[in-house]
Amino acid sequence: MNKIEHIGIAVRNLDEAILTYTELLGTECYKTEAVESEGVKTAFFQVGESKIELLEASNENSPIAKFIEKKGEGIHHIAFDVTDIQQSMSELAAKGFQLLNEAPKNGADNKLVAFIHPKSSNGVLVELCQEKK
Ligand code: ZN
Repeated sequence: MNKIEHIGIAVRNLDEAILTYTELLGTECYKTEAVESEGVKTAFFQVGESKIELLEASNENSPIAKFIEKKGEGIHHIAFDVTDIQQSMSELAAKGFQLLNEAPKNGADNKLVAFIHPKSSNGVLVELCQEKK
């Protein structure tokens, strides 16, 4: 893992959260993007070498809707930047980590992503992400 690429935060209302985090971080959101396949609307802030990703559910079956229903708003996942996502997935699977995806999929912000089940990592949903070339 190269660095923490971003921290994902589940929010009920993206527009309101963007205003809050613009104030909090002292920087403007640089991108909003809907990822229909995941049922989310996202907004990104750059903070030093890492990012904050705000996530709002775009439908009631979205994983974010389910997360908020269960736990309320808050930190949803931590994403680590990797050089070769396929290789990282194979290595982690070999070490016994349970992957939620068999193959990398398209995520927001020009990334290939895959997730590790929180049961494998002390309750934290871990995202691997690799910049698309
Ligand atoms: Zn993410």
